[in-house]
Amino acid sequence: MKGKLFQKLPKVDKLLNCKELEVLGKEMDYFTFSESIKSGINFFREQISRDEIKNFTDTEIIEKIIEIANKDKKNSLKALINGTGTIIHTNLGRSLFTEKMIKNIEEISLNYSNLEYNLETGSRGSRYVHLEELICKVTGGESAIVVNNNASAVILCLNEFGKGKETIVSRGELVEIGGSFRIPEIMELSGTKLREIGTTNRTNLQDYNNAITEETALLLKVHSSNYKMSGFVKTVEIEDLSKLGNEKKITTMEDIGSGVLVDFSKYGLTKEKTVQESLKAGVDIITFSGDKLLGGPQAGIIVGKKELIERISKNQYLRAFRMDKNSIAALEVVFRYYLDEREAIKEIPTLKMILENPKKVENRAQELSNILNEKKIINHIISTRAKIGGGSMPEETVSSYGIKLEGNANLLEQKFRKNDIPVIGRIYEDSYIIDMKTVREKEIPELASIIAKLCQKLEN
Ligand SMILES: *Cc1c(COP(=O)(O)O)cnc(C)c1O
Repeated sequence: MKGKLFQKLPKVDKLLNCKELEVLGKEMDYFTFSESIKSGINFFREQISRDEIKNFTDTEIIEKIIEIANKDKKNSLKALINGTGTIIHTNLGRSLFTEKMIKNIEEISLNYSNLEYNLETGSRGSRYVHLEELICKVTGGESAIVVNNNASAVILCLNEFGKGKETIVSRGELVEIGGSFRIPEIMELSGTKLREIGTTNRTNLQDYNNAITEETALLLKVHSSNYKMSGFVKTVEIEDLSKLGNEKKITTMEDIGSGVLVDFSKYGLTKEKTVQESLKAGVDIITFSGDKLLGGPQAGIIVGKKELIERISKNQYLRAFRMDKNSIAALEVVFRYYLDEREAIKEIPTLKMILENPKKVENRAQELSNILNEKKIINHIISTRAKIGGGSMPEETVSSYGIKLEGNANLLEQKFRKNDIPVIGRIYEDSYIIDMKTVREKEIPELASIIAKLCQKLEN
């Protein structure tokens, strides 16, 4: 009996060329396609050996193969729908690109370019020149250089300016950013000695002043990014720290983290000091991320005094931390938007999402809800608070709307997450919700079908 069933299993070669799998076969690479076929056949072979089936048809095997192939053909890194409401979500890829950024990457990566070639002199050039002038124009800095993320920007600066000597930091700013980026450890790695001052909640200028010795190389201020202290708190403003550094002829540095270039308070959000304001306050060197509030590609941007940036450009770590040409191409487009603030807030997806009128989010929620109602899926529009995220403005939330779905929240969370096109929602007061702040108009039809599929399944 078993023997007969084993014999009935189709051969790989036959399936490779069968009509039903023709489309998949064309779409997939040969290796993965034949592996999927083998897995499909094996699935039935194992069932036979365990006496779990008495018979099967070719159609059943082909259906199984299609199911397996549809999983196997997917890349590991894939697009998903962000229903968390967190705009700069570090785990979900932070900032989105614009068509214009992609166009420029396409142009640069499908062709040779003058990445490190000086077209004036016909000799070797520097990849850093493409962005420097533009960044200075936008930020008001004297000079600038760009590396692959802000973590490397900080290491590079600490190494160049603080190596073998002391760097003074307030105890309130010895933060962990996440992903094991901890200021004390980073300082050790960079070769500078940490000199902690003040207390967790209070540090004043006198603390810095008292700690300065012959050994002091750097006064560092770190943005607390992902946490906020309130109550009996005192920190030293960058203006005052810069003045002290100037007086004592000690370099001052600020790790701003997120790098806001637009004064959000003009648009009704909490005041967050901008890169331009920090530079105006007189700090010698600042570093910030490219893909947080700036809304660009992953990058670490270092702006400051000309002679300091020149030193950075000669540091041996620079080569290890250098930015790739695609990110340079994308970042150039982003900084061009910032030449005109109105264009920046109109075009850059991260800024657009933060400043979008909640009415528009409500409209999207309504649109999704209407489709779901037609499909007879129980849903409720609720008002929510969406987070800005990305280790920036930790307390800041903006008004938003979400769709609350019926059913076991944990189960729903899992089903949506494991869907073909994953949907990442969030659980709020024991309910599963999809926050529409981070769901774009164009994603609504797809999202509606996914909800219809998963929520119906739950009912029966
Ligand atoms: C986010 C952040 C970093 C790390 O920046 P990446 O671009 O993610 O490497 C460093 N310092 C601060 C204060 C941050 O907020």
